[in-house]
Amino acid sequence: MSDDRSSFDPGMIDDLDDDLDEDAGGPARSDQGPEDGDGAAFRAAVRHILEEIGEDPSREGLEKTPARVRRMYRELTRGYHVDPDRLINNALFDVAYSEMVVVRGIEFYSLCEHHLLPFYGTAAVAYIPDGRVIGLSKIPRIVEMFARRLQVQERMTAQIAEFLMERLHPQGVGVVMEATHLCTVMRGVGKQGTVMTTSHVLGIFRSNEKTRAEFLAHLQRPPTGV
Ligand code: ZN
Repeated sequence: MSDDRSSFDPGMIDDLDDDLDEDAGGPARSDQGPEDGDGAAFRAAVRHILEEIGEDPSREGLEKTPARVRRMYRELTRGYHVDPDRLINNALFDVAYSEMVVVRGIEFYSLCEHHLLPFYGTAAVAYIPDGRVIGLSKIPRIVEMFARRLQVQERMTAQIAEFLMERLHPQGVGVVMEATHLCTVMRGVGKQGTVMTTSHVLGIFRSNEKTRAEFLAHLQRPPTGV
């Protein structure tokens, strides 16, 4: 057994997660992105964009906008700088459980790589363990690691499923994401409320129709949690 695993005690999972959160995916790591010194090049680029759209970057309301936009993009793309090993370190547990684990209603916010506009919605992630489970609060963090990048929804859905498959070696994984894309909603006429759904299934979720049906049935159930 490798030392990134320990014996399973459900009560200790959350405590471990709390200890790791700051290191693994929290704001503390957002500073570790590629640097361009004080961000002068970034701010100049934003000023150029403001000029291009016919604005005056020197007027009072826009004066600090380039610096704000830079900070915001660093925040919204911090998923590039999350170390996946640290994210899941100490959160894998050997346990003889082989029923479906489903986490749904995971909120996410991402940026579409075609327009740099937000798309946002919820994710449902399910897996069937093969002797190993992952601390429950890690799953939203995995979603966030892939969401806080420039993305297309289809690829992000696949990345989350494949990541769990590689790291957890479960019998199978299923991911469904539903999102509203502002690049569609804001530009379209009569497209308000358009929601795009993507799914990616691997392992037994792909090969076994009954497993897939059980997953989909979970998704249709009204939420009963607190
Ligand atoms: Zn777009």
